[in-house]
Amino acid sequence: MKLSKFGNKFTQESGILTLMDDLGEALAAGERMSMLGGGNPARIPEVEAVFTERMREMLSESGEFQQLIGNYDMPQGNRELITALVGLFRERYGWDLGRQNIALTNGSQPSFFWLFNLLAGEQETGPSKKILLPLTPEYIGYTDLGLVHDFFLSNRPEIELLGDDLFKYHVDFDSLEVTKEVAAICVSRPTNPTSNVLTEGELGRLNTLALENDVPLIIDNAYGTPFPNIIFADVEPIWNENIILTMSLSKLGLPGARTGIVVAREEIVSAIAGFNAIISLAPGSLGAYLARELVASGEIIDMSRKLIRPFYERKCAQALEWIRESMAGLHYRVHKPEGTFFFWMWLEGMRLTSHELYERLKNRGVLVVPGHYFFAGHDRDWRHKHECIRVNYSQDEETVRKGIEIIAEEVRKAF
Ligand code: PLP
Repeated sequence: MKLSKFGNKFTQESGILTLMDDLGEALAAGERMSMLGGGNPARIPEVEAVFTERMREMLSESGEFQQLIGNYDMPQGNRELITALVGLFRERYGWDLGRQNIALTNGSQPSFFWLFNLLAGEQETGPSKKILLPLTPEYIGYTDLGLVHDFFLSNRPEIELLGDDLFKYHVDFDSLEVTKEVAAICVSRPTNPTSNVLTEGELGRLNTLALENDVPLIIDNAYGTPFPNIIFADVEPIWNENIILTMSLSKLGLPGARTGIVVAREEIVSAIAGFNAIISLAPGSLGAYLARELVASGEIIDMSRKLIRPFYERKCAQALEWIRESMAGLHYRVHKPEGTFFFWMWLEGMRLTSHELYERLKNRGVLVVPGHYFFAGHDRDWRHKHECIRVNYSQDEETVRKGIEIIAEEVRKAF
């Protein structure tokens, strides 16, 4: 079978595919694997109870479930959820927006496929454009989204060492250039894989740079505030007509519902609605039905503040303690945990590459993600890329603790 250029591009080996395959195989293997690799959120009983109850209500009340399964939503997404989101953003944050500024998608992953290719790639006139990642490491899921190769420009971070065993990345504004090649600037905040939360100062400077160069600033808020709020400091969300804010219901506990939210200027939202219509007629309705009352009442914010953030903050503190116990005396640093549910561990000077360490860990039944996948757009080699691993600590205590102990044993052998 002869594939098209498009076919070849999207069937080549990709980091995200390997990751999802490993996850799938490990899940099939069941008990034997410690799943510290993928992006699955934790199961939080109190949050699950809220959605279970909501599902019961839908099944019992007259016709709601039938409406959910029996109708296509508009290509822009479920009207009630969009209206509720508009109300929430206007009331709580004073954003000057309306229904024309919000579209839903089948998860924020497809939102990025639409957004990136809407802006970057071949242009009607002039040279091709790229997405600028001002601070890498960045989300692995962006890497393969471009319809063309060579789709990203990216910048190395500045590294601030903190205490004996932590560090933090910062945007290196001295080397950051928004050239004519840039179609949009994109950051995840908090960042997957590092958990870094760009400071307000950094975000302000990126916003100014984007405005000055007349390109949008895409902020990937998959873990951010106001929901799911897996961010360990009190920060306010920001939006303006030049910002494309993407959100998701996944890390709230609904990854299977595949619901993404794009908040943007009207022409971007219309484009997303068009893409939805062309590719899937309409986004799925399940997430919208499960979440819309929580959004309309504002309860989604309380749930995120009172249940979700504290849950992950506790897990993070506990897992960091286990790392410090198991890895005492080893040469390691962890990125200062500021949100998400990942540790980004830097093993400077390790004899193995992070990929070799990953293979050894997989043989011992522990799945992590090797760091080099998170550097889309880096053309030059940089040792740091092969010295880091991402560890998901959202699973149950036993799994995380055992996994960390095995990581410590293998890291000890790797120096
Ligand atoms: N953005 C970031 C930073 C993520 O970590 C993820 C998932 O792990 C996504 C976007 C995509 O999430 P979803 O498509 O489930 O909304």
